[in-house]
This record gives sequence, structure tokens and C-alpha cells, in this order.
Amino acid sequence: MLDLLIIGSGPAGLSAAVYAQRSNLDFKVAEREFLGTGQIARSFRVDNYLGFYGITGYDLGEKFRLHAEELRVPFHTGEVCACSRAGDGWKVDFLDGRHLEARALIWAAGTETRHLNIIGREKFEAEYIHSCAVCDGPAYDDKAVAVAGGGDTALDTALFMTNFCNQVYLIHWMDQFQGNPVTLKKLEDMPTVEILRGTSILMAEGGDRMERLVLSSGRRIRVDGLFEAIGARPCTDVLKNLTDLDPQGYIVAGEDGITSCPGIFAAGDVRTKQLRQVSTAVGDGANALYSVLDYLKSE
Ligand SMILES: Cc1cc2nc3c(=O)[nH]c(=O)nc-3n(C[C@H](O)[C@H](O)[C@H](O)COP(=O)(O)OP(=O)(O)OC[C@H]3O[C@@H](n4cnc5c(N)ncnc54)[C@H](O)[C@@H]3O)c2cc1C
Repeated sequence: MLDLLIIGSGPAGLSAAVYAQRSNLDFKVAEREFLGTGQIARSFRVDNYLGFYGITGYDLGEKFRLHAEELRVPFHTGEVCACSRAGDGWKVDFLDGRHLEARALIWAAGTETRHLNIIGREKFEAEYIHSCAVCDGPAYDDKAVAVAGGGDTALDTALFMTNFCNQVYLIHWMDQFQGNPVTLKKLEDMPTVEILRGTSILMAEGGDRMERLVLSSGRRIRVDGLFEAIGARPCTDVLKNLTDLDPQGYIVAGEDGITSCPGIFAAGDVRTKQLRQVSTAVGDGANALYSVLDYLKSE
């Protein structure tokens, strides 16, 4: 049985891993995406992580991962699908049928994008509906796209897409945007951007390719692709009956990462907190690891 299994290799998980390696723990980091570095890889520019002004999110994530690899952190690629008590530790099952056992867990699985519920979604989601502009945006050179959402991610996505597209529709179901007003003003001033407030997307239409979106106003707009930026949900389904979750599904835990379930610790965006950012995730990883050390000593 391992001392510790860290679930997620985003900033929180990798930070915990660096501290775990330097504490000589017998541990592994489980990550569902091959060489994944978490959500930050989807940010096209990070201006608020100290020491790395203007770096791309992808490059920042790579730096985190390389740091862990330099220290020979052991990784296990697989998606955790269940977790149960095993003696004085935990048995963690993976979708591919494998399992690992550990005395303590740090749950650093972050959040994932919410999806729009629109007719035609299944037909187009694989190729024409996206959530990562950095990853998929360049494919829309000289094309038209819609961006759905009203927060910072939606505004940043729309702005980023103006680098490629001849037309960007920013569509928000509410009248007010929640994202940065400076970015919103920039978008309002751009001739290739049309902002549609108080509007929902009902349906995606087209033959082999996405061709149009049908809006709640009755209007049909011609688009080649759709980017969803309508918020996130915490990846905590596996923990539903093990730890206390808040009504949105975030793990109830302070910055020490201690949860209602002894032996399960939380770090990063998955836990109840004020600010979900790389800087707070990195701090959480370190703190949670220190709580794990105390826990393992007291066991
Ligand atoms: C588009 C975008 C732009 C952003 N820009 C900024 C910015 O400029 N500055 C900033 O500070 N923050 C930014 N953020 C927020 C920042 O990315 C997050 O706060 C940070 O990544 C949280 O780190 P984390 O480790 O808690 O979770 P995550 O980064 O979400 O990492 C969690 C990891 O766990 C893995 N995982 C999930 N479930 C499982 C499972 N069941 N089994 C195995 N693995 C699993 C995931 O694949 C993922 O790799 C941005 C986020 C987005 C989406």
C-alpha cells in the first residue's frame, strides 16, 4: 500500500507531488490525461502567476510537470472512477480496471467545463463544439464562430478568437456580463464581434459540418464552430458519499486540505475557497501535503 495517492496533475497535484517527493513518501500521482497539466494548459496567456508574466498556460503547465519529472515523481495514467475503504487506507479504482491502494489521498481533480444543452449537440460535439480556444481556435482561421458565456473565460475566448475569425458572436443568456469590463469594452469596439445579450442557443444545424445556430430570439446565425465557456463543475462525483460537499459539489475543506473524512485531503479548485487560480492551487498542494504528513504520523 502506498503512503499517498494524489489524484490530478494540475498545479495543485503537482505542487503536492513536489513536496511529497522531498518528504520521501511512497506515493504516486494519478492523472486521466496523458501528460496532463490541468486546466491551465487551456489559457492562452497567464499574467498573474508570480515570476512568469505573459507565459502561455500550456508552457506554465509544462514547467510544472518538468519540475516534478526532474524530481522523479512517479505518475500513473488513468481515470479514477471509484474509491472505497481498504484496511486502514483507500482502494482507488480506475476505469481501465486497475486499482491502487494508499493510506491517504489528496484529491486535486479540479473542475471541468459545463456543457450547453442544445439540440444537435451530439451530432457536432466531436468536431465543432469546443471548450478550449487555445487548443482548437486556430482551426477557425477566416471563419465564423460563436462563444457562449458571460464570465472572464467567455470574454477571453471571444477576444482570442478575433485573432483568427472574420466573425465572432458572443452570446450570453443574461443581459449583464460578469467578466472583466475592460475586455468587454474591447470586444464591443471590434467590428468583427457581435454581442448578443439575453439570448440562449437552442439548436445547432448543418449537414456534415456545423452551419448555423438557432437562437432563442428566433434568429439563425451562420457559424462554423461553437466554443462553450459557461462555467465549471468540480470533479468530485467519486467522493459523493465519502466527504462533505457543498451544494455545488465542491469539497468542504480549508486551506489545510482537511476534509470531513480522515485520510482524504483536498487541494486546488475542487475545494471550497474564495479564489480559484494557479497561485492558490499551488499553495493548496503544499498545505495539503503537510496535513498528510501529520495524518500519516498519527496513524
Ligand atoms: C481558460 C482558462 C484560463 C485560465 N486562466 C488563468 C490565469 O490566467 N491565471 C490563473 O491563475 N488561473 C487561470 N485559470 C484557472 C486555473 O487554471 C486553475 O485555477 C488551476 O488550474 C487549478 O488547478 P488544480 O490543480 O486545482 O485543478 P486542474 O488544473 O483542473 O487539474 C486537475 C487535474 O485532475 C485531473 N482529473 C480530474 N478528474 C480525474 C479523475 N477522476 N482521475 C484522474 N485525474 C483526474 C484532470 O485531468 C486535471 O489534469 C484558468 C482556467 C481556464 C479554464
